Amino acid sequence: MLYLCGPAYRLIRPNRSYFSFLLYHVETPIPYGRQHITAADVQAVTETLLSDFLTQGPKVAEFEEKFAAYIGASYAVAVSNGTAALHLCTLALEVQPGQRVITTPITFAASANSVLYCGGEVHFADIDPATGLIDLQKVRQLLAAHPKGYFHGLIPVDFAGLPVDLEAARQLCDEFGLWLIEDAAHSPGGFFTDSQGVAQWCGNGQYADLAIFSFHPVKHIATGEGGMITTNRKDLYDKLLLLRTHGITKDPGLLHHHHGGWYYEMQTLGYNYRMPDMLTALGISQLQRADEGLARRRQLAARYDAAFIAMPGVQPLGTAPGHAYHLYVIQVDDRKGLYDFLRTKQIFAQVHYIPVHTMPYYQQLGWKKGDFPHAEAYYDHCLSIPMFPSLTDEQQAYVVACIQEFITH
Ligand SMILES: *Cc1c(COP(=O)(O)O)cnc(C)c1O
Repeated sequence: MLYLCGPAYRLIRPNRSYFSFLLYHVETPIPYGRQHITAADVQAVTETLLSDFLTQGPKVAEFEEKFAAYIGASYAVAVSNGTAALHLCTLALEVQPGQRVITTPITFAASANSVLYCGGEVHFADIDPATGLIDLQKVRQLLAAHPKGYFHGLIPVDFAGLPVDLEAARQLCDEFGLWLIEDAAHSPGGFFTDSQGVAQWCGNGQYADLAIFSFHPVKHIATGEGGMITTNRKDLYDKLLLLRTHGITKDPGLLHHHHGGWYYEMQTLGYNYRMPDMLTALGISQLQRADEGLARRRQLAARYDAAFIAMPGVQPLGTAPGHAYHLYVIQVDDRKGLYDFLRTKQIFAQVHYIPVHTMPYYQQLGWKKGDFPHAEAYYDHCLSIPMFPSLTDEQQAYVVACIQEFITH
């Protein structure tokens, strides 16, 4: 960085605003998403660092209670990341080798992998091109084409922050005897309105057996690594607590024997999927600003919506009042062209997602290109453009101007 002062400074002074605008955008890459860390966040972490507990301390339970209250669920279990959350869910639901579970091809690989971890089989249902969400009609066709008991579970994803109609998903699951996990990694604070006109918050456990969240830095609440499971089912909650910590309990009510104060029992095969106190302290601090961040995401989305209405050739993905806008996805004819062009402008858009069934690993399992045409067509045209609370109005205007420039040339 070159600091100019005295005569040199006066030399560029007349052009200063233009010059700094240029410098700003050349020097500050704009990612598609990023964390927002405040002085209060830093203080929360450092206070915990100097406390008695770095892990398994009081901050974990505090975060769980506050998160459950925010989401509107009865129970919350903090875990080391969103993938661990998914794994504990499939374990708690006792996915067995060979059991079949349905999810969407347009998601992060972990949603599907969590089934494989337990030896289960992943199946996919294509997306609704208007929303990017799993098409529940396609799920119904798939279920109806097989005898009852052929499938065991459904994992829909609130993709980009657009909530799945879980009431409809639940009806389907009940009809065919499936459990339901909501992958809400993109949608804390999002909601859909059910048939009674009631707003149902993502992850509130009203319809799904379990829901998962992630605190990866691009997600709404950022702790570096971290995750949460929410549920209204006490039986699953108890199982999750045990599975999170090696299957070990010290709870006097659960022990078979009592040898003394030191005594614990390993009652099932569990894991170390704990979230440390430093990170849950960061989560508590971030949670206080969750609504603020969500409001800013929705404001940015409304501004994008307005800009793209006037831009034929740019098609935003479906919207809804309860959209949580983890991502803002547009669809364009020349996606690769736009992606590369934006990079030259220091704008780092991203593609969400490469369909899971087209990954080499999943192809080895027998899936092939052509299996889910809507997901594949979506993938050819989608681009996630910058969407995060600290994106400034000026930066957003610059992003829109660059997209406009590409589209019109
Ligand atoms: C981020 C994410 C996950 C996994 O979360 P991690 O904390 O990165 O393990 C799972 N599902 C979806 C849809 C995600 O976006």
